[in-house]
Amino acid sequence: MQIKHLVTIAAVTCALMVGACACSGRSSGGASATTTPAAHTSQAVSLPAFSADSAYAAVAAQVAMGPRNPGSDAIKRCGEWIISELGRYGADTVIVQRTTEPDPMNPSRKVPLVNIIGCFNPDAAKRLIVAAHYDTRPVADEDADESKRDKPIPGANDGGSGVGVMLELARLMGLQTPGVGVDLLFVDLEDSGTSGDDASWCRGSQYFASHLPYKSAAERPQAAVVLDMVGAPGARFHREYFSQQANPALVDRVWASARAAGCASRFPDQLGGPILDDHLPLINAGIPAIDIVESRSDATGTFPETWHTHADDMSSVDRSTLGAVGRTMVHFIYNYR
Ligand SMILES: [Zn+2]
Repeated sequence: MQIKHLVTIAAVTCALMVGACACSGRSSGGASATTTPAAHTSQAVSLPAFSADSAYAAVAAQVAMGPRNPGSDAIKRCGEWIISELGRYGADTVIVQRTTEPDPMNPSRKVPLVNIIGCFNPDAAKRLIVAAHYDTRPVADEDADESKRDKPIPGANDGGSGVGVMLELARLMGLQTPGVGVDLLFVDLEDSGTSGDDASWCRGSQYFASHLPYKSAAERPQAAVVLDMVGAPGARFHREYFSQQANPALVDRVWASARAAGCASRFPDQLGGPILDDHLPLINAGIPAIDIVESRSDATGTFPETWHTHADDMSSVDRSTLGAVGRTMVHFIYNYR
């Protein structure tokens, strides 16, 4: 309740910087997080090599489809493509949740909501979720050019990057089965929300959280990691505030994975801003979840400069950043016991 309350007080926007925009546009997160050294990783496991090129190509493929805003032909094609890619990479099961919901930006019309879950190694004793949204924002409300604010964004970093990393993880898991079960959750309708209306964001993950595809408590995932805006050049990922509050041990574990992957400089042991994102519905559903999201950009203090603008094109995505996040996730997944 406290988490929700905090969000309600200060929510601003999608992958929403809470407490950031109401005043200065700067993140309030600045204090160092208290961390416990975590030794969850083992060097004994051979790790598949994450290809940043492949992840980048998967981002480019999405952007080439055009903006994937709800109700568009492009998001329909993108969803079909994700399902096809999961099949090509050898997902054991692909679950598709389909419904329709009022368009959060235009409630008089309904739009499809399609969540896609690619399950790898489903019979394993333990299970993880890795999640990202694949819809993109229908408006460019942060764009400097007011005349273009009503047009949908390319969504290369915001939308495309998390999906790109996840599809490369799918390729790797098809080649080398991890010891843990992994559900790759591609959620819809994350980014059509309105400032001040918390429930208008993250509709896909809200739907997933209320329609969990797990028959028993034993099947429920032990942890979930959300990837959002994980591709900007030079991006660093601070310990997102709500993640740190709700699941500090899981944050420790992922940040330790980053160190083990040689990516410590990308994952500072410092607190980031509080972000309304797809991890919150999962936390509220009892699944320990955290968010890897750029919330203290060196340039803006908050999100990347291209956030919710037309500049969120392929120039706002960098292979090096995708690779750092991808290698971190490989360490986390393949060493999970
Ligand atoms: Zn967004």
